[in-house]
Order: sequence, then structure tokens, then C-alpha cells
Amino acid sequence: MRPQILFSLFAPVTSLTGVGPRIAKLIENLAGPKIVDLLWHLPREIVDRSFSPAIGDAPNGRVCTLTIKVEKHEKGYARKPYRVRCRDDSGFLTLIFFHAKEDYLLRLLPIGETRIVSGTIEEFSGEKQITHPDYVLKLDDKETMPVIEPVYPLTAGLTLKTIGKAIRGSLAKAPELKEWLDKPLKKQNNWPNWHEALQRCHTPESLDDLEPLTRSRTRLAYDELLANQLALALIRRALRKLPGSKISGKGQLRGRVIENLPFQLTTAQESAITEITNDMATNGRMLRLLQGDVGSGKTVVALFAALNAIETGGQVAIMAPTEILARQHFETLSQLLKDTGITLGILTGRDRGAGRKKTMNALEDGTLNLIVGTHALFQKDVIFSNLLLVVIDEQHRFGVHQRLTLAEKGRGVDTLVMTATPIPRTLLLTAYGDLDCSRLLGKPPGREPVDTRTISNDRLGEVVASIGRAIKTGAKIYWVCPLVEESETIDLANAEARFAALKKQFGDEVELIHGRMKGPEKDAAMSRFSSGTANILVATTVIEVGVDVPEASIMVIEHAERFGLAQLHQLRGRIGRGDQRSTCLLVYASPLTETARARLKMMRETDDGFLIAEEDLRLRGGGEILGTRQSGIPDFRLADLSSHADLLTIAQGDAKIILEMDPELKSERGEALRTLLYLFERDEAVAYLRSG
Ligand code: ADP
Ligand code: MG
Repeated sequence: MRPQILFSLFAPVTSLTGVGPRIAKLIENLAGPKIVDLLWHLPREIVDRSFSPAIGDAPNGRVCTLTIKVEKHEKGYARKPYRVRCRDDSGFLTLIFFHAKEDYLLRLLPIGETRIVSGTIEEFSGEKQITHPDYVLKLDDKETMPVIEPVYPLTAGLTLKTIGKAIRGSLAKAPELKEWLDKPLKKQNNWPNWHEALQRCHTPESLDDLEPLTRSRTRLAYDELLANQLALALIRRALRKLPGSKISGKGQLRGRVIENLPFQLTTAQESAITEITNDMATNGRMLRLLQGDVGSGKTVVALFAALNAIETGGQVAIMAPTEILARQHFETLSQLLKDTGITLGILTGRDRGAGRKKTMNALEDGTLNLIVGTHALFQKDVIFSNLLLVVIDEQHRFGVHQRLTLAEKGRGVDTLVMTATPIPRTLLLTAYGDLDCSRLLGKPPGREPVDTRTISNDRLGEVVASIGRAIKTGAKIYWVCPLVEESETIDLANAEARFAALKKQFGDEVELIHGRMKGPEKDAAMSRFSSGTANILVATTVIEVGVDVPEASIMVIEHAERFGLAQLHQLRGRIGRGDQRSTCLLVYASPLTETARARLKMMRETDDGFLIAEEDLRLRGGGEILGTRQSGIPDFRLADLSSHADLLTIAQGDAKIILEMDPELKSERGEALRTLLYLFERDEAVAYLRSG
């Protein structure tokens, strides 16, 4: 349970004075629904009110604080705003108010009195004005005005005044918390206490105070990263603590399959297999990531891990994120496992009725050795006789919880997670902590690099003509339709329109595949394409993940400028899998933004997924990595990995030592660290602490 000291921070923002339901909604969209969310909403700029010139010297466009004498009020009428004429010895200043209430303004700015006003100077035909001054104060109240005021990111309908007040209110509720930092680390960096750091971040005194590497900002960023790493370490430890099993087969099946393979394993594949089988042979639970670029040959590696488990009498489940992929794995594996006596099944959302029942029975009585499937495998009534290994392909589509659910279907189940997302090291760390990782670098031999070209969409006619020539020579072509952010419907419309246009020209050579199609339709389209009766496959991005048709050698991507780098790379990975030369045509619409231009250039220049991922991170800027939600990489509120990546490594080491010294977080520091976990809403990790 969340410690009492944090209760006030987790109250809704409506508990702040001046925040009603309407404002709360805006704050929620901007920062979050709770008071703590406002604490994390750091200023991005400042207003400096220290400049106090005479009216005559006040420059247009600048924020000035002026001491003026009120001369007269001019009521507004019709569309004319209310005006208050003021002066000092050097000149005149008009204060302008829209929708003004006269009696209020007469009290605020009594005629003949001296007042301090602060706001942005506007100059129109020699006349100086301030519209709605930020402050109007009596001389005696001057001290109540902040000289330097933080400026927060805003959203339509929310003023700086309102959010500033809400944040000050939140800060007032922030308690002093017991220190969770390692003393020497804190001292070495000269970091302030949490409470002080927070206050300072919200009361910047100069632009320098907004830099990510100030002591206060760094401290808060470190807190966030430490919470992240500690939570991951706790979850992982809990997983490892679960009883595992030694899985170490004799190799008889693997020997037979190697003979069946139409190729030799690469050294990269062999060493990944060795790492995995060594890990499986230990008593603990394996939780290992197999990372390899598209086309690097992960499937065979997973197969060998599976065979190892089957040799010891266990069952294996292979999870794919989509129906298509599950079918494809099933086909591939059926081929590779021919004549081995291994029984193989498939279970997806499509399998119902008697077929499903039969598969389930075979799983339960152990006659099925290996099952390939989708989310359907998670269902409660899917029971295994002796599940030993779970392989999850394309990890990023599944959550941590789901992984566990599947592993709970057996005792001591090992987990191998495969991902083609070339996540940069730093990000990998934030998503998985120090998860064991095997990497498949490079590609199987005999691959020709893909020739990637960019071409403007006013030359689409030429593209179609060249495709016409290519299919005459037996080429197979993917035609990827433009991506419309957030709109599957328009994506689909685009794909259907392109399909119709190409069909007019090429007739039955063309097939269409998209996410809304029913399973059997998808299979049929896919198999007509892969078996050769159709040679052009028009697709939405459903083909992004995993589809393997080695004969496909051309890919056209329409509106390539709309795709992210990582996505383009994944798509392109569908070709260049066979031994023929492949071409990728990135068709773009002008004008290109600078970022889009840089992306397309990168695609032309390299096909190294890791390089592309690093560049992607750079182009998108720290923190805002598109599709991160999908990849399980957390969005940090305070840490910015382009500035704080070093801290991440320190936090990782810190978390490790913490759990070695104080495994149950019982010491004084341990207690404080629990509070830290709650503060960053890692309640789930604390729960593991208790159950573990
Ligand atoms: P991914 O890592 O993207 O899942 P796959 O496992 O689908 O890659 O493999 C891509 C292609 O490479 C497949 O057609 C597979 O048969 C082939 N392949 C895998 N390993 C080798 C190898 N050692 N030599 C030649 N081809 C291989
Ligand atoms: Mg794959």
C-alpha cells in the first residue's frame, strides 16, 4: 500500500484551490490527473520581470516592470476595449483590457495613484501599451511579484496564471521525504534533497536553471531512473526466484533437424543457440531476449531452443503477435520438422469448435510437443501437460504481464523473447533492465544488399511501368500503401484504391492484404502471393512484422515520408531475403520536411538496423520516440535520455547493489526506496517484493 506520506500527492488535482472540473480536465490532458503529475510538469522557459525602465525606454515586445501614475480611464464600448491612460516622467503608457468591469478596474487602478505594472510592451504608431498586464500592484506589494517567473508548457484554454497557481499549490503539498539516495553518490554530485530539488526546478532564477544538467534537475532525473531500474530489478528477481527447471536435451532431435536444414547455421546463430541452451541448463528461470535485425535468422535459433526442451520431454509454446505470423511460423516449422516425429499444432483466435477442442486436448494430454499461436494461447482453458519453454516473437506487442501469464501455465517455464526492433542499448536498459540478451549480429550469407532509391510521387507512372517489366521476369513485389496516422479506415481506403488501380493494369497478378481481412482471406491472399500465382501484394503495414517470402525482391513504399525510420527498416527487411538482387523504391510526396529528408537519406545509405535505430532516436529527439508505447519503453517525465543516459547506467548499478545489500528493502534506506517506487507509481514492483 502506498505510504501515507504520499497521499496528498496522489490526490486529484481538483483538490487544489482554484481547480474545478473544467480546469482539471485540461491539466489532466497536459500533465496528468494527480497532484504529483503537476510536480513533474517542469517549466520550459522563464519570464524575467527584473527589467524596470522608464516608459520612454521600454522597448516593444519586451517584458517590463514599470512604475506609473494613473491619469484617466476610458470606458470601452462596442468592440473597443477599456483603456487606462498612465504616465511617468518619460512618457505615456496605455493599459488595455477586454471584457473589463469598470468598478473592478477603478479599484485596481485608482486615478491619481502610483502603481507597479508588469507585462509585455506593445508599440502601435508610437503609442506604448500593455494588454492585460500580468501584475498590477501597489508600491508596498512589490515584493509579492516574482522577479523571475517559470513558464510552463500549456494547452489551449489553460493560462500560465492558472497552471502556475496549481503548481504552486502542488508544491505546497509536497512533503519532505526521507532520503533514498546513496550518500556518497549524492555527495559526489552535490545533489540537493528531493524536496529542495523540486522547489528549485520550479523556481528557476535564470535560463541556466532550465538546463537538464542542473543539480536539481539531474537529481530528479536520477530519482526517476533509479525507480525504473529498481522496479525492473525487483520484477526480474521475482521471476528468477520462481522455481526453474534444468532443460538439457541429448541433442538427438537437433541432430536430425540440422540435416534437414537447407543451409548451414551461421556462427552468430550457433553462438546464440549455445548461450540459450546454457541458460536453459541452469536451475533458475531463463528470461532472455534474442535481439536480431529483420532477416537475421532468429526463427531457427528459437527452433533449436524448442528442440532442446522437447528432447527433455517438455512442451513448447511459440507466440506470435499476429495471425499471419503465427500461420507462417507454423508452415516454416512444419517444413523444418518434417520426419522428426515432432507433433506440431496451431492455436489462434480463428481456431474454434471441434478443431480447437482437439488441439487443446492434445496439449493437455501431452501428445502435442509444440504449439504456435497468438494471444489465444493466453486463454484460461488452454492447459499444457508439461510446458517448459515459451518463445515470444516480436516482444513489443505484448506486455510484461502477459509474458507472466503464459509462463504460469507450466512449472519452471523458461522464456525466450525475440525482437527485431533494434532498440538502442540505453533504451533496452530502461525497458528490460539488465535482462539477459543474445544478439544476432549480421545476416545469413549470400544476401545481396537491397538497392534503395527514392523517387518523387509525380513519377508513379514510371514506377508502375517498371513493375510491369519486372513481373514479366518473374519478380515478386510488395506494394506498401501510405500510412495515415491513427486512421486504419483511411489506410484501408488507400490500399483498396491502389489495389483497384493496379488490378486494372495487371489483373490476377495482384493481391490485397490488410488488417481488417478475415483470417482465411488473409491466408489465401498470402499463399497466392508466396506460391507464385500472384506476383504483386498490395498491403497496409500488416506485413511489417515477420512475413517471409524469400522470392520477393521489390518493395514499393508509397508516401515513404510518413513512415518512421524504424518502420521503414522493418518493412524493407521483407525483401533481400533470397539470393537475387532486391530493390526498394521509396516513393515520396514533396515538399519533404528536413527530418523526412534525413530519414530517406539514411535509408538509402545503410541497412544496419542498429545504426538506423540510433539515428531514429537522434532525429526524433530524446524522450519522444514514436511507437515507444508499443515497444514497452517507458516515457520518462523527468529524465531525458539524450542528456541523462549516463545516469541510467549508474542507476542500474545502484539498483543491483541495493538488492544485494538489502534484498527486502527493510533498512532505513530501503524504506525510503519503497517510497520512491510508490512516488513513481511502480506499485507493481513493490508487490513483487512482498510476494517474493
Ligand atoms: P528473422 O530474424 O527476421 O525472424 P528469419 O528467421 O525469418 O529472420 O530468417 C530470414 C530468412 O533467412 C529465412 O528465409 C531463413 O530461412 C533464412 N535463414 C536463416 N538462417 C539462415 C542461414 N544460416 N543461412 C541461410 N539462410 C538462413
Ligand atoms: Mg521473425
